Amino acid sequence: MNILLLGGGGREHALAWKLAQSPALSTLYAAPGNPGIAQHATLVDLDATDHRAVVDFCLRHSIGLVVIGPEAPLVDGLADNLRVKGYPVFGPGKKAAQLEGSKGFTKDLCKRAGIPTAAYERVTSKDGAIAALDDFALPVVIKADGLAAGKGVIIAETREQAVEAIEDMFSGAFGSAGAEVVLEEYMTGEEASFFALTDGSAILPFGSAQDHKRVGDGDTGPNTGGMGAYSPARVLTPELEAEVIEKIVRPTVDTLAAEGTPYSGVLYAGLMLTAEGPKLIEYNARFGDPECQVLMMRFDGDLVALLLAVAEGRLAEQGPVQLADRTALTIVMAANGYPGTPEKGGAISGIDAAEAGGARVFHAGTADKDGAIVANGGRVLNVTATGETVKAAQEAAYRAVDAIGFPTGFCRRDIGWREVAREEA
Ligand code: ATP
Repeated sequence: MNILLLGGGGREHALAWKLAQSPALSTLYAAPGNPGIAQHATLVDLDATDHRAVVDFCLRHSIGLVVIGPEAPLVDGLADNLRVKGYPVFGPGKKAAQLEGSKGFTKDLCKRAGIPTAAYERVTSKDGAIAALDDFALPVVIKADGLAAGKGVIIAETREQAVEAIEDMFSGAFGSAGAEVVLEEYMTGEEASFFALTDGSAILPFGSAQDHKRVGDGDTGPNTGGMGAYSPARVLTPELEAEVIEKIVRPTVDTLAAEGTPYSGVLYAGLMLTAEGPKLIEYNARFGDPECQVLMMRFDGDLVALLLAVAEGRLAEQGPVQLADRTALTIVMAANGYPGTPEKGGAISGIDAAEAGGARVFHAGTADKDGAIVANGGRVLNVTATGETVKAAQEAAYRAVDAIGFPTGFCRRDIGWREVAREEA
């Protein structure tokens, strides 16, 4: 079968690597891809915002499955436009992707379905938002409703900070993402991510992970797209996982199906493990980046068969997802300047040496310059290793990082610290 994979980050490199291992695959095409993805796929010049061009490509190349990596094409309705033409797609349609595309949509759904989450109010004007502040204790969480690449969330410690954040959001700084704002009660606890495949009816757990959002060691500095992750997140015990499925994921899937907009794809639940039990922070409508890299390092099954079963509504026929019990850990190597303006063009060497020890180096923002790999984005490489413990995986991943020459880049040196501290306690 021919497959088209859309996206060009570390997440898509990890997906391409696993898809390419399937005996069911004939040719894997990827757009835009990156030099790492090019090891497993034929890169094609295809603009995912041009839905007609994507449909046309599928027809000309007998595509049997389209895998959509990032959120933007999902929220934009690409999956619907492919399904209408009969192409199986891994990823939700426009309406169900609102779970990621609109925080207000998700909060309202939680209310209808009785899903545990922070108390909230949706507001559409600056004055309305400032008036609504009276209903919340401090700190209060202020979120732009739409997609803001992880930058649309402010935790305000004081009323002044809250007013400033509200003024900022309604000033147009977030474009249409900030036309509506959600105020939320602040929850305390440890965060964990949980992944589940669903075809709108059956649900198959696909493991857990913890990421590291801040740019600096010790979780300091500005937020990023993610500086590293590990899986499983053992803080999400089997008992808690069962509770998350029963109280959060199952009611979400059933409510969307009952309302005529079934969700098909991977549901990524961002959770707060509070004293009252797990509560939903947010949903994403795709695999996380870099969480996907650690999940794929643990996945031992046939990814083509599994994603096709989701796309064709046959998930109930599948056995449990085969995830190895070992820990996988990934370290993001970023270009100097990230998460601000990253330095482009920096030379990279030693990827083969890093992989010689068993680690895998997934490409994110890289480019091929006359046969040499150079930096071409903020997050550049995802150096990923496995081990029997988080400590062992961490040591293996940093050994691989140290084999890489990337003078204009940096990484955190403490990925996995929470779990390592627990292991050593
Ligand atoms: P992401 O980049 O993870 O997609 P996002 O912009 O979609 O981020 P959220 O995940 O909703 O936003 O929030 C980002 C972070 O803000 C969370 O990971 C969490 O640390 C914090 N946060 C969000 N909502 C709350 C809340 N109600 N209480 C406490 N912390 C919160």
